[in-house]
Amino acid sequence: MAYAYDPENIFAKILRGEIPSTKVTETEHSFAFRDITPQAPDHVLVIPKGPYVCFDHFALEASDAEIIDFNRTVGEICKELGVQPGEGGNGYRLIANSGEAAVQEVPHMHVHILAGRPLGRMLN
Ligand code: IMP
Repeated sequence: MAYAYDPENIFAKILRGEIPSTKVTETEHSFAFRDITPQAPDHVLVIPKGPYVCFDHFALEASDAEIIDFNRTVGEICKELGVQPGEGGNGYRLIANSGEAAVQEVPHMHVHILAGRPLGRMLN
């Protein structure tokens, strides 16, 4: 089954500059901005610039360059936030809701970075 990307989704509009966002960083293949409804003191959304619907779409079809860029961007943001556990930070959580069961609200692949408070246990 082919992935169907809707170019009118909110994050596509943010990438095109049609609606504003609070930018955190931007690279050749990735863009990061603050979540509009933060669930933690630090709540950043990282998205690829390419038209990928969900995590598996990105992981299976993006180029190596896009995937490396995305992962490095997530790491750099954690470093900028000062939350890297290996470097004395208090840690963070990454979430990539994908599809209906995970209640993915915006159909453009994104990873949430949550940090800045105790995050508790998550799996339920
Ligand atoms: P999802 O449930 O993983 O798809 O999460 C989508 C996230 O996008 C939610 O946490 C929303 O608060 C966030 N969001 C929706 N619209 C905007 C926006 O315009 N700017 C920033 N974040 C947004």
